Amino acid sequence: MAGLDPEDFSSLRALGHLMLDNIFDRAERMGDGPVWRPMPPEERARFRGALPTSGTGAEKLYDLCRQAIVPYHNGNTHPGFMGWVQGAGTPVGILAELLAASLNDNCGGRDHAAIEVERQVIRWAAEIVGLPETSSGVLVTGSSLANFIAVITASRARDPAFRQTGVGGAGLVGYAASTAHGCIPRAFDLAGLGTGALRSVPVDGAYRLRLDVLADQIAADRASGFTPFMVIGTAGSVDCGAVDDLAAIADLCARENLWLHVDGAFGAFGRLSPTHSALFAGMERADSVALDFHKWGQVPYDAGCIVVRDAALHARAFAQSLDYLQREDRGLAGNAPWFCDFGPDLSRGFRALKVWMTLSHYGSARMGAMVEECCAVAGYLAERVRADSRFELLAPVALNIVCFALRGISDALTAELVKDVQESGVAAPSTTRIGGRLAIRAAIVNHRTTRATIDALLAALIEIAARRGGGTDEAVS
Ligand SMILES: *Cc1c(COP(=O)(O)O)cnc(C)c1O
Repeated sequence: MAGLDPEDFSSLRALGHLMLDNIFDRAERMGDGPVWRPMPPEERARFRGALPTSGTGAEKLYDLCRQAIVPYHNGNTHPGFMGWVQGAGTPVGILAELLAASLNDNCGGRDHAAIEVERQVIRWAAEIVGLPETSSGVLVTGSSLANFIAVITASRARDPAFRQTGVGGAGLVGYAASTAHGCIPRAFDLAGLGTGALRSVPVDGAYRLRLDVLADQIAADRASGFTPFMVIGTAGSVDCGAVDDLAAIADLCARENLWLHVDGAFGAFGRLSPTHSALFAGMERADSVALDFHKWGQVPYDAGCIVVRDAALHARAFAQSLDYLQREDRGLAGNAPWFCDFGPDLSRGFRALKVWMTLSHYGSARMGAMVEECCAVAGYLAERVRADSRFELLAPVALNIVCFALRGISDALTAELVKDVQESGVAAPSTTRIGGRLAIRAAIVNHRTTRATIDALLAALIEIAARRGGGTDEAVS
């Protein structure tokens, strides 16, 4: 038998039908069972074996998946999942992934339909963030890579010779709020600028970057011989969902001739919500914006995106001319520019199909209503917390993230409570620190989370705290 295909597809086809039925049975009841449960040691042990020499039938492997993988998955498809910032996926996204896998396209470039689909998606992404339709962009794993691409593009926009000489000794410095996501300092690290070249700007009482301090820092850096090159605004901070004053930052960047990048990983989708879009005024003036379709866009993992206003500057940072990647005027090697001209990846999958299918299926109005409803559910949680003297709200709620605590409970006990709630299977919030205090953090990025889920979360917290004997008057440590 040549190759790896079966001689007879009938049993694999039957397995495929069974799998699809099981997948949609589960999708119809995403709220059944616990949000998450720890994987028992005997199931973990199944994944500690040596590389098998001989093969196993697909039916047997699927049985193993049902037993050892599906019940112990991440949990973010369940309505009770509200930890970190994670999207919940959609049924249509599942189908798109299936089709994309069957085509197995390599979307680094060349002349085929997947490239046109990705270009469409990039134009839609530009529309979502308010950049012109002539903007360039590329789908990547997530905003970590999108923000990294922005840092590289902004530094090469300053001087394309950095591609040959490196940035060492150029004294480039950039600025972001102290609450910026950890991938921003990581991007400076990976770009060879060093995390020290990212100046941390303090935030105000609403957790927004302080422009007065930013202006002073830029002046001080210039006076000391540094070369400021970019400011990173945050639209939806990871700790509490704050949105920087992007219009004011854009004014400052225009005055100071600095690249304005906006990290809109989840927040950029807030522009689709009629009641929240005004918060994002100024995003449309950015030079580049990072956003994640896999978070509030509900596209299955992974699907991040970078959009760059000036396509020529974007390509100038990444495009190469290589003999084995020659672009032609026709044939399969045509259709330049290729997506490998806009980022570090050459081989890349057909992420665009699931994004295109999700946005096309729901449309921007329904996606905006979904974002709005997530914020309303977060608002309901904040209201319940404010109205109940056993709880306290630790940060203002600008969008969809609520940071709160049980009053009079130590950080150590708060950490235990969150783990208890996760293990109870009722809900999966996470934690963060707000003003030094450990907060229970509920990020409503999940289109399946409802007010009933919030009620269950609060009831579980109260019940577990009482059971632990923590009461509500334990001294704060
Ligand atoms: C999630 C997040 C990131 C990182 O994005 P990934 O898709 O996880 O790589 C960056 N910034 C913010 C504000 C985020 O919420």
